[in-house]
Amino acid sequence: MIPFLDLKQINAVYRQELIAAATRVIDSGWYIHGEEVKKFEQSFADYCGTKHCIGVANGLDALILVLRAWKELGKLNEGDEIIVPANTYIASILAITENKLKPVLVEPDPLTFNICPANIRAAISNNTKAILAVHLYGQLAPMPEIIAIASEHNLLVLEDSAQSHGAEIEGRKAGNWGHASGFSFYPGKNLGALGDAGAVTTNDDELAQIIRALGNYGSHKKYENLYQGVNSRLDEMQAALLSVKLKYLHKETQRRREIAIAYASAIKNPLVQLPISAKLTIEELCSHAFHLFVIRTKNRDELQKHLMDSGVVSMIHYPIPPHFQKAYLSYSYLTFPITEELHRDVLSLPISPYMSENHVGRVISAINSFNQ
Ligand SMILES: *Cc1c(COP(=O)(O)O)cnc(C)c1O
Repeated sequence: MIPFLDLKQINAVYRQELIAAATRVIDSGWYIHGEEVKKFEQSFADYCGTKHCIGVANGLDALILVLRAWKELGKLNEGDEIIVPANTYIASILAITENKLKPVLVEPDPLTFNICPANIRAAISNNTKAILAVHLYGQLAPMPEIIAIASEHNLLVLEDSAQSHGAEIEGRKAGNWGHASGFSFYPGKNLGALGDAGAVTTNDDELAQIIRALGNYGSHKKYENLYQGVNSRLDEMQAALLSVKLKYLHKETQRRREIAIAYASAIKNPLVQLPISAKLTIEELCSHAFHLFVIRTKNRDELQKHLMDSGVVSMIHYPIPPHFQKAYLSYSYLTFPITEELHRDVLSLPISPYMSENHVGRVISAINSFNQ
């Protein structure tokens, strides 16, 4: 069986280094906010090209804390509208409602799955204060256009970079486009910890300082509290493990790109629509970190069954759009035809930096031999 993503196989590659890092933390006697966190934050900020990186407990907290910090700064107020793609993973929207802000869902571009600039423009009202741009499936949202719209309308831009570590446009990476960005290091993400972890990146000194305090009980200085904060910290153990894996992120991303191109050039089945063409320019290829390789088909159940019968595990990202979730019952009157169609059509193929050529070939043959 070809697994969807074999985390045991991925982490086994770094086993010796991970054990050495974990041992270093165990023996240090220091487990929260120490040298390992500092070192990882510096390396990840350097990787993204940003001035600051603030480690937090997970990706959802990273997004929540940025919006919360903007509220503390008076840049956002309860009830303000935040534009967000309707087809995102629900965490992006949870971060907005957790802060008592109002998500304004907009349709994506069906070819890239990412938020569509024309639809952003159409959704802007007097109450719009920010755009939450999600780099879905690993591909950067059209950031040059989004930044232009935001500066025209004086809007804040928050990137949800949870799926897009290392994706770049014009040499500028995910996490370094908006006023701030949230990253997840959930084990299955492109840079995955061995537990929960996340980070905020930003070039804004004041924002960085407030987020740091908010994630540590609102404390900027031991036993002094400026805000009614929360406890959301990256711990020394995860930071040490992440520092090991960060060194190999570029190499892993390049391998993901190779597999994506292999899929795009060899999958030939009229029942399947590919997310990229086989002849991507280097720039187009670099804009995508291929967290997921998502195809579309009108015969999804049959294709998924055929793949399973051929020994290939596939997954659906995501089966139910946020506005149809029970958690957001009050949005269920809304209709988003593109989003709803995507949720019926999408299917994610296995893509992992340590997939063998043989497995890549078997996925391709399994799709090509599908005929309903
Ligand atoms: C994974 C993910 C998150 C949340 O990250 P966690 O670390 O699981 O909290 C947020 N947004 C998107 C798009 C994600 O894929």
